[in-house]
Amino acid sequence: MTLLFLVPFFLAPFIGSFLGVLIRRIPRGEPFATGRSHCEHCGTTLRPAEMIPVLSYCLQKGRCRHCGSRIDAQHLRVELAALGVPVSIVLCGLMMSFQHELPFDAIMPEPGVFLADCILGWGLLALSWIDLICLRLPDSLTLPLLLAGLAEGFIFHGPEGAYDRVLGCAAGWLIFTAIAWGYRRLRGRTGLGGGDVKLLAAGGAWLGVAPLPSVILLAAILGLIAAATTIFRSGRFSMTVVVPFGPCLAAAVWMARLVLSAE
Ligand SMILES: [Zn+2]
Repeated sequence: MTLLFLVPFFLAPFIGSFLGVLIRRIPRGEPFATGRSHCEHCGTTLRPAEMIPVLSYCLQKGRCRHCGSRIDAQHLRVELAALGVPVSIVLCGLMMSFQHELPFDAIMPEPGVFLADCILGWGLLALSWIDLICLRLPDSLTLPLLLAGLAEGFIFHGPEGAYDRVLGCAAGWLIFTAIAWGYRRLRGRTGLGGGDVKLLAAGGAWLGVAPLPSVILLAAILGLIAAATTIFRSGRFSMTVVVPFGPCLAAAVWMARLVLSAE
């Protein structure tokens, strides 16, 4: 274990703060790369001390220092969720080391892979959150995530790893494109969105081809549970219930990656 393992924990709240901006701005169609952070009520530009994730929210008791209005707690939730990404990897490592009676060090990935795992986790987190808000998986996130997966395969596993990732990416894209096409022909409406197709392609780019069947099965089970919960809550049965599938797929990709990394 080296100090490098602490890097993702240090970065997480700041990444979470950035993801919070993406999650707020992308569904509204606002540009996310420009504009200084400001209070949404009085418009005052935030000072660096007011932009320290988690800490500034707690010190200011969730209120703007200038106008005193409430800061949306979503900022804090996203920052904490981003911190949950490296934490979940460590917890999974602990569980696997306990289960296989191996030392924790032997289970945990090397620091570079650990950081890469976190990058995938942060990307999936932002995508899931946005899909829950507006039923959309924006290309501006899925496509960079896909490219990052291919690059990660090449960096840590060489040309052979990159080849497997390209195959995974293509297979993911083809399988969901075929399912989406078949569903549209059969039912006359869209079941799987184009964003889901690109997300599975990105999943393949991070996992390779072999885990894809398990990922699809797990995502389908989670999707059915989500649909059943939605129907149960609304109190009336409908075959056309709309459930954001992105979070189910993202969760399945994330679990597969956790298992692969700890192997
Ligand atoms: Zn204010």
